[in-house]
Amino acid sequence: MVDLEDYNQRNSEREAMVKEQLIFRGIWNKAVQNSMLAVPRHLFVPEALREYAYCDGPLSIGDGQTISQPYIVAYMIEALNPGKNDIVLEVGTGSGYAAAVLSRLVAMVYTVERLPAHAKRAEALLEKLNYRNIEVIVGDGTRGLPEKAPFDGILVSAGAPTIPNSLLTQLKTGGRLIIPQGTKDSQELKLITKDAHSEIRKRSLGAVHFVPLIGEEGWKR
Ligand code: SAH
Repeated sequence: MVDLEDYNQRNSEREAMVKEQLIFRGIWNKAVQNSMLAVPRHLFVPEALREYAYCDGPLSIGDGQTISQPYIVAYMIEALNPGKNDIVLEVGTGSGYAAAVLSRLVAMVYTVERLPAHAKRAEALLEKLNYRNIEVIVGDGTRGLPEKAPFDGILVSAGAPTIPNSLLTQLKTGGRLIIPQGTKDSQELKLITKDAHSEIRKRSLGAVHFVPLIGEEGWKR
């Protein structure tokens, strides 16, 4: 049974989040705004933290991992410039929230998570909420997902020491890669594009703080 009062309360919190945290800070892409309005973020956070789901910050989802601040999710997805027919790879499923937001904007999202427990929980929730164009895969996302490559967009939701070569290789011509890169404590969000001559261009999108990307082409531990 849906608790109508709770439902309405969450909806109004989500509307305020989109207006105050996203639009006022310059997230102009209407499709991104609408997707952030539609996804019930409170269901992606642990039950005990539900009342903070629409606050302006990241939240713990267990095992030292976090669900990113709403603004950062919107900012990264806007920068990825998603198109309706795009096939996208996300590295770092976590709660599955960013994958859900992204899935409303593209054709297909493959999302890779190294911790099986997170992957399982996210997969179950996404299925329950009827997201049909998301596939959750357990594995090391620093190696990308060769069997589904190449991708129009790749979104990395954890901080990398260097840009994994596998991800560059699996990017289509005209593709975009969004990745936080730096030390374990602070990173620079980077937009990497591959142009028509397969030339790689990098742009900095500002300072961010993510949990470490751990894997073969990431941090060793
Ligand atoms: N996008 C998520 C937040 C991700 S937190 C959300 O919306 O909730 C970062 C996640 O990346 C963590 O769950 C962590 O376990 C995962 N991760 C770290 N290194 C990884 C790797 N090499 N491959 C896949 N997932 C990784």
